[in-house]
Amino acid sequence: KFIAFEGGEGMGKSTQARLLCDALEQRGIEAELTREPGGTPGAEAIRELLLHPPGEGWGAQAEALLFAAARADHVARLIRPAVEAGRWVVCDRFLDSSRAYQGSAGELGDEQVRTLHAIGSGGLLPDLTIVIGADGDEVSARLRARDGDTSDAIGGRDETYHRSVNEAFERFAEEEPERFARIDGTGSIEGVHARIMTALAGLLP
Ligand code: C5P
Repeated sequence: KFIAFEGGEGMGKSTQARLLCDALEQRGIEAELTREPGGTPGAEAIRELLLHPPGEGWGAQAEALLFAAARADHVARLIRPAVEAGRWVVCDRFLDSSRAYQGSAGELGDEQVRTLHAIGSGGLLPDLTIVIGADGDEVSARLRARDGDTSDAIGGRDETYHRSVNEAFERFAEEEPERFARIDGTGSIEGVHARIMTALAGLLP
């Protein structure tokens, strides 16, 4: 099975992806934890280029192509082989991050983002995408809490952009309820984890 975690900055995706992997392992399910952009040596090299652009930064089209290129390598070398071998893959961000950041909040349209994904990754979709969400004020509070730590973030984006990213994720989850589980990201880490395990119950052996 292939599970993706989605949401804006500071919503706890990475923590929850790790906790899910631990919980799967405890049940004897082999699970691979990975992330985007990154996950393979080639895709991690592209991540560096995205986070630390040489020169004046990437234009919207070049940036979207780099995300798509990183995903193509990640899918071909790690995700597809693992899923075909019957392992679980838990991925911190996937296609819907491109739809939210480069598509909805950025300059590309949804159709363009999906086309890039079809060309690069054969249109592969997760079995379930977990969107961790919160209301707008909570989103802003978490962004401010992260303000000092921008080492792992693409810079130059304002609060309006990030709010629009979170709204896009909420919209995606509403539009395709069969593909997404929208999880309330507020409250304790354990509480969020428990909600995720409930949402996944139908996929567990
Ligand atoms: O999730 P993580 O913090 O590792 O992502 C690294 C950076 O890349 C973040 O600033 C995130 O907003 C950005 N990103 C993006 N578009 C994507 C995926 C991630 O702008 N499709």
